[in-house]
Amino acid sequence: MRVERDMGKAAAVRPAHRVARWDREADVVIVGLGAAGACAAVEAAEAGAEVLVLERASGGGGTSALSTGQIYLGGGTPIQQACGFEDSPEEMFKYLMASCGPGPDEAKIRLYCDGSVAHFHWLVALGVPFKPTFYGDGSYTPTDDCLSFSGSELAYPYRDLARPAPRGHTVQHPSIEAGAVLMQRLLAAVERTTAAVQADALVQTLVVDDGRVVGLVARVDGREQVIRARGVILTAGGFINNRAMVDRYAPLLRKCRFRAACDGDDGRGIRMGMGAGGAAIRMDVGCIVLPFTVPKVLMKGILVNRRGMRFINEDVYQTVVGEAALLREGGEVFLITDNETFARPFAPAEIAAVEDTVADLERALGMPSGSLQHTVAVHNEHAARGEDPLFHKAAEYLAPLVHPPFAALDYTTRNSLYTVFTLGGLHTLPTGEVLTPDGEVVPGLWAAGRTTSGLAAQGYSSGLSLADATFFGRLAGRTAASRDAA
Ligand SMILES: Cc1cc2nc3c(=O)[nH]c(=O)nc-3n(C[C@H](O)[C@H](O)[C@H](O)COP(=O)(O)OP(=O)(O)OC[C@H]3O[C@@H](n4cnc5c(N)ncnc54)[C@H](O)[C@@H]3O)c2cc1C
Repeated sequence: MRVERDMGKAAAVRPAHRVARWDREADVVIVGLGAAGACAAVEAAEAGAEVLVLERASGGGGTSALSTGQIYLGGGTPIQQACGFEDSPEEMFKYLMASCGPGPDEAKIRLYCDGSVAHFHWLVALGVPFKPTFYGDGSYTPTDDCLSFSGSELAYPYRDLARPAPRGHTVQHPSIEAGAVLMQRLLAAVERTTAAVQADALVQTLVVDDGRVVGLVARVDGREQVIRARGVILTAGGFINNRAMVDRYAPLLRKCRFRAACDGDDGRGIRMGMGAGGAAIRMDVGCIVLPFTVPKVLMKGILVNRRGMRFINEDVYQTVVGEAALLREGGEVFLITDNETFARPFAPAEIAAVEDTVADLERALGMPSGSLQHTVAVHNEHAARGEDPLFHKAAEYLAPLVHPPFAALDYTTRNSLYTVFTLGGLHTLPTGEVLTPDGEVVPGLWAAGRTTSGLAAQGYSSGLSLADATFFGRLAGRTAASRDAA
């Protein structure tokens, strides 16, 4: 995976008066052909606009094609109904408002919850396959099943704030590579429209005339082209592969060993938007996955920090655990198990220590004397009654840790596989219009997908990124295509 080491010059705009000639022109020019770009292209073309999509790689797909193809959808989709789960836009709204914060974008969440069932039908009409089956063994489906709990719906406090329903909808595929199927179908849908796609076209900077974005500069097959546009939509992914940007905006994310991204996630789209006057928000936020929950018996263990103290209910979704472990505990955490709760973890994790007593384990881990012993004793006392007064872990995952030997699985960032991509980006209206720091619209500029800050301000549930990309990509395409757009 190639990593850009400098910030580049993408934020420097080219003033229109310095454009000697325009090489090409379109109503709507879209930068990047992942899920967001494809959905924007379909909608803009169907609204009657002349659309040109520029993609820096030799073909469309982006990170979307590498993904596991899970989309957070709900409010009563046909799949939820077929699998016997009751849901409504209101319950989905309550869950997302509670879990995607602090400070989630209420307007986006409201629109998404109200439009989620229709969005499901739109994807199906484009040929995206979903099998009406439920997978109950975890959030990711290693089978071709569709529906799963892909967030913290069943965990405290969310289970008390909204009626739990599974909302992870994975595109039908026999293994975890369902993102490839999603993108095949979306790219085929783009081909059926009048939208033109130009691959090997690296967009470098925007052209601005008196504050309005009127075009862009791209290197197409190695030669510079200046392209005029009535509207530009930035759908160029996030910035986890730009080391300088991560160092500046989200330095803790550097500790994660696996970047869930493609080469294009170098932040260029965000920087171009900033150059044209757009505000970038929540730039320190990431989707941080700490994959420790498979097999499920491991959730009966307790996560502790370097001081031997628990810090979370272990049954919240693994991205919420990842955020807490990395951002609050500096990525220095261990999972304590006993002989009954131990199993080989699915994702690679080393065993930090195995001892016959908790006191020896505490010593082996270099924790303050008595700290881990106290934590385990308190946990055991309550777990024996099926209670967790400190963190409210669900009773089914509570077990006293009393059967030696005791083991500590090493979930420090050094020795386990924290996975990350960025969630911060351009501040947009739900329509995709890019906003300035003063909250005004940058005329002529739209953005969607990981180039923007979307549904999850924090507290990511799996599927929300493809939700951002597909749903808000569509809205950006439709709005940019409308003749009376700003
Ligand atoms: C292994 C893995 C599993 C994942 N699983 C899920 C999941 O199940 N559910 C989920 O919601 N999310 C998942 N994600 C995250 C999700 O895939 C991405 O966040 C999402 O696909 C982003 O979509 P996008 O359209 O914004 O960007 P992308 O799909 O990355 O598309 C951006 C495109 O823009 C192009 N581009 C970039 N810069 C330029 C430029 N300057 N000029 C021209 N083109 C440019 C890129 O080449 C790329 O093709 C996963 C990610 C990974 C890696």
